Amino acid sequence: MPDPAPMLETLVLQPTPFCNIACTYCYLPDRDDRRLMTAATVEASFARVFESGWAAPDLTVIWHAGEPLVAPIAFYEDALATAERLRPPTVRVRHSIQTNGMLLNAAWCDFLRRHDVGIGVSLDGPRALHDAYRVGRNGRGTFDRTMAGIRLLQDHGVPFHVITVLSRDSLAAPEELVAFYRQAGIDQVCFNVEESEGDHVSALFAAEDLRPRFARFLDRFWRCARESGGFRFIREIDGMLPRILRPEEAPLRNEQVVPFGILSIGCTGDAATFSPELLGLRNAACGDFLIGNVHTHSLAQMRDSLVLRTMARDIAAGVARCRDECPYFSVCGGGAPVNKLTENGGFATTRTRFCELTQMVPTDLILDAVERMELADRPAAAGVG
Ligand code: SF4
Repeated sequence: MPDPAPMLETLVLQPTPFCNIACTYCYLPDRDDRRLMTAATVEASFARVFESGWAAPDLTVIWHAGEPLVAPIAFYEDALATAERLRPPTVRVRHSIQTNGMLLNAAWCDFLRRHDVGIGVSLDGPRALHDAYRVGRNGRGTFDRTMAGIRLLQDHGVPFHVITVLSRDSLAAPEELVAFYRQAGIDQVCFNVEESEGDHVSALFAAEDLRPRFARFLDRFWRCARESGGFRFIREIDGMLPRILRPEEAPLRNEQVVPFGILSIGCTGDAATFSPELLGLRNAACGDFLIGNVHTHSLAQMRDSLVLRTMARDIAAGVARCRDECPYFSVCGGGAPVNKLTENGGFATTRTRFCELTQMVPTDLILDAVERMELADRPAAAGVG
């Protein structure tokens, strides 16, 4: 029987590999490369996706993997028009941008609002925590310019979330982070712990006690945030809740472990699937993880490539092991292949530090909270009978 048709939910496009700053934990290998995706590559990317018939009814396009605002607004006006022209009527496309926020201005805010583009800003907390790692090419902190960008978004009524990379110091400062976000009017937050990726090695990520430290951080942050009443979305909690509390029969889809759940296309048209971070990585067994190029390959041809078939086999073996061995499988669905590769040396593996932090810790916290609520709802023993 032929494989079922893929369902492409997330398309990651790299407008440029270049980044205008030089964060000390950055793992992107080509961040000095100033090339910009050409109009022909934009066209080929959307044409390949839509002609495949694999795009989900709601397709998210994320412009990332470099600093996207380095590309001019005119680039995105053309790119969004191309997507609109080529999209089948059955597919809705929502664009989103992940940025350091430093190049935002009134014209960008107007563009983001007009096209309802989702926006995430990288902000690592108050000045001292942010500037310790997020520095410009001159070595100076970027806090002031990022905050200026955030204030512009707020003044123009553009909704946004922030992504905060947690360091050793910020893990010890959940109350400080809550107070800072409240004071800055930021109510949607996502956390990443500083990881070892590409050529960046994180001592924090290797620390023995990272899991309990992150658990303490998230527990405290969540409690303080609830008490403050000022947060609409904490990804680690609110993103996990529907997966934990869904009906038992509802299937869970992990788009990172199925071919073409996510398709990542680099600035020159090179394509990778599964975890987006695989675009640009190299490894002795799989080479560069590229499954083709949109200028020369259809998605069907990419699906037949040896690289994809080898990766799909190994990733499926890892998911099968997760299913057999891990009590968190029903909320996780088999993890992030790139972390299995970088932490364990292969896709056909299971537990990683990354899955402990992103799956196990939030699940445990939420289940503990549910249990406390259930206990609180029961009549006190002394009052019964
Ligand atoms: S939490 Fe980790 S070990 Fe468990 S299913 Fe997910 S990736 Fe596999």
